[in-house]
Amino acid sequence: MGDTTHHIIGLSGGKDSTATLLLARDRLPKNSIQPVFVDTGNEHPATYAYLDYLERQLSIQVTHLKPDFTADMADKRRYIAQDRRTGRDKRGVKLRWSNRRKREALAELHPTGNPFLDLCLTKGMFPTNRRRFCTDFLKTRVFVGFVDDLVQSRKKVIIWQGIRRDESDKRKNAKLFERVGPGFYYFRPLIHWSEKDVFQCIADHGLNPNPLYQSVGRVGCAPCIYSNKKDLRALFQSEHGPATLDKIRDWEQRVARASKTGKAVFFQGKQLAGAHLGEVHPLVFYQRHSIDAIQHWASKPTRFVGEDWDNFEFEQESVCSSEWGLCE
Ligand code: SF4
Repeated sequence: MGDTTHHIIGLSGGKDSTATLLLARDRLPKNSIQPVFVDTGNEHPATYAYLDYLERQLSIQVTHLKPDFTADMADKRRYIAQDRRTGRDKRGVKLRWSNRRKREALAELHPTGNPFLDLCLTKGMFPTNRRRFCTDFLKTRVFVGFVDDLVQSRKKVIIWQGIRRDESDKRKNAKLFERVGPGFYYFRPLIHWSEKDVFQCIADHGLNPNPLYQSVGRVGCAPCIYSNKKDLRALFQSEHGPATLDKIRDWEQRVARASKTGKAVFFQGKQLAGAHLGEVHPLVFYQRHSIDAIQHWASKPTRFVGEDWDNFEFEQESVCSSEWGLCE
């Protein structure tokens, strides 16, 4: 690792990427490391505050990257405006946007400056487990583009990844050091660590972990499509609850106007409506999944014999995680 090596640490504000940053700070000159945070525009306020805290405590500067969907939105506007398709899809729905839906969508499709909202407006829907475009468009592509620019211009780039082998089957064979391409490497200093080791490392450096571990229990979007009932209850009952509710209510209305069906909800898991969209009347589905209905549902702990709804995920994966350390 010579002087010209540039060390990038993908920082989410979560424990693993924080511990990785601390190790890099311990081992390397300050001017050779660059912590990078990719801002979805839907982060929990505590995470922004925690990044400020890390900057102050470690005397470092975190690079904030923000995706921009202005061009994609312009493409979508053109596509809708020029839609002249004929025929129907396999469910019998007309392919062409109705004139009313076109008018509403074209009025709504203007960049807001919030990446999460702009992406959902452009897609005409919120991400789901089946179409989880958020991590890819809001985190991975932005980070990869940033790294690629560096690789083109620098002699050697090392990405420090805070992943651990005990996290999942997918990661159980993760290598400590890996060559990705000419002058481009991954370094994974935590692969043999446990979760306890990670928290211990943060404590040993005289720092606190992100306070979200004591409340909502996860670091990432607020809310995240993978939030479970308990996470949502903690989020809505926190000081940020009313603002979060207002934000998502507003987003649901705007994304609905930008969609071909005129309907959109943030949480689309089947559990509340008792069926997938298409298995119950759309009015029932969207009413039961609106953010106000979700908030009401989350406010009451419910347990049925043999089922633990508090920990049940809306979607079928338990976490949003990124090998780059961008999500946790
Ligand atoms: S934290 Fe959740 S909502 Fe945010 S990008 Fe990851 S999966 Fe998507």
